[in-house]
Amino acid sequence: METKSLVLLGSTGSIGTQTLGVVEECGYRVDALAAGRQVAALEEQIRRFRPSVAAMYDEAAARDLKTRVADLDVTVLSGMDGLCELASRNVDLVLNSVVGMVGLQPTLKAIESGNDVALANKETLVAGGALVMDAVKKHGVRLLPVDSEHSAIFQCLQGAPADRRAVKRLILTASGGPFFGRSAAELEHVTLQDALKHPNWSMGAKITVDSASMMNKGLELIEARWLFDVPPEKIDVVVHRESIIHSLVEYVDNAVIAQLGVPDMRVPIQYALTYPARAVSPVGELSLADVATMTFYKPDEETFRCLPLCREAILRGGLTPAAVNGANEQAVALFMDGKIGFMDIPRLVETVLAQTWGSADSVEAVLEADRAARAMVLSAVG
Ligand code: MG
Repeated sequence: METKSLVLLGSTGSIGTQTLGVVEECGYRVDALAAGRQVAALEEQIRRFRPSVAAMYDEAAARDLKTRVADLDVTVLSGMDGLCELASRNVDLVLNSVVGMVGLQPTLKAIESGNDVALANKETLVAGGALVMDAVKKHGVRLLPVDSEHSAIFQCLQGAPADRRAVKRLILTASGGPFFGRSAAELEHVTLQDALKHPNWSMGAKITVDSASMMNKGLELIEARWLFDVPPEKIDVVVHRESIIHSLVEYVDNAVIAQLGVPDMRVPIQYALTYPARAVSPVGELSLADVATMTFYKPDEETFRCLPLCREAILRGGLTPAAVNGANEQAVALFMDGKIGFMDIPRLVETVLAQTWGSADSVEAVLEADRAARAMVLSAVG
C-alpha cells in the first residue's frame, strides 16, 4: 500500500486521539500535528508519530513545546497562522478536528491549497457553509465528513445520482442525550456534571453539552444542508435512543437506506481516511440480536429549543447561522464556568437569532458576526 500524508489539526482532542489510533493501519504518515494548549499530550504524540511540523494554537503552550522537543527535528509553530500554515502543506489529507470557530480559517486554507479535507469541525460549515462549499468547487477538492451522522448519510448516498433529485429526505438520528424525556422546568437546575453524562458516545465536553441541549443536532442539520446540497426543509431529525442507526436517506421511491454500526467514532474516522476504499477495523461488529430493540421518537422541540432555533437560522441564511453558532459557543463556555443555567443556553441563542444579520459574503463578515454574537451574549448576561 502506498503511504499517504496527513495533517491532523486538533490532535489531542477526542477525535484527534482516535484518529491517531487508526491512522497507521489506514496507510498514512503523520506530516503535521496541531493542538490547542495540551502541551504534554502533543509532545507525546510528536515523539510517537514524528511529524516534521507541529503547532499549538496557544502561544505560551507553543513556547513550552519548543523547549520540550528541542532534541527532535520538528518545527514548532503557533497561533492561527501556525494552524493555517499546517493546513496549507502539500499533503494528501487534512483532518480538521479542532473545536469551535477556530476551525474555519484552517479549513479554508487547506481547500485553497488544493488539499482534501476530512471535516470533524462542524462550526466550519455552520458558520461559513457557503464560502467553504464555493471554495471546494473552485479548487476541486474533496470534503469528507467525519461526524457519524454525516458519514452515515455520505455512505447512504454512495451510488446515488449527483444531482440529488432522487433524494426526498435526509434523516439525521439523535440519541436525545442525557436529558431525553425531561421537561423544560426540570432542566432549569441541571448541572454541568449531569450534562456531561452522554448515554452512548464518548466525546469532548463542548459537543457533549451541545448534545444535551440538542444544539448539536441543530448544528448538524445546518452542516448537512451544505455538505449534501439539500435544502433544510428536506432534512428531518428523529430521536433514536440506541445510536445504532447513524442516519438515513429516503429516496423519491420511498426506499430508505440506513447506515448502522456500534457507536464508535473510529468507524467514520476510518472511512474518511480510506474513502472510497474500506479497511478492516478494530471496532467491534454489530449484533442486531443483542441490540434486540431499537426505539424512535419525534424530537421534543418545545423543551429542546436549540434544534428549531438552528432550523430557523439556516432558513434565514446569510450570517444568521454564524451568529447563532457564536452565541452558543459563548453560552456553553459560560455554562461550563457555572455562570449561567442550562436553559439560559437556548434563551441566549434565541436573543441573538432575533437580531438581523447580513449576508455571509466574506470570511471577515463571518468572523465579525461571530464576534458580535459573543459580545451580545456576554452583555445579556451582564
Ligand atoms: Mg454527530
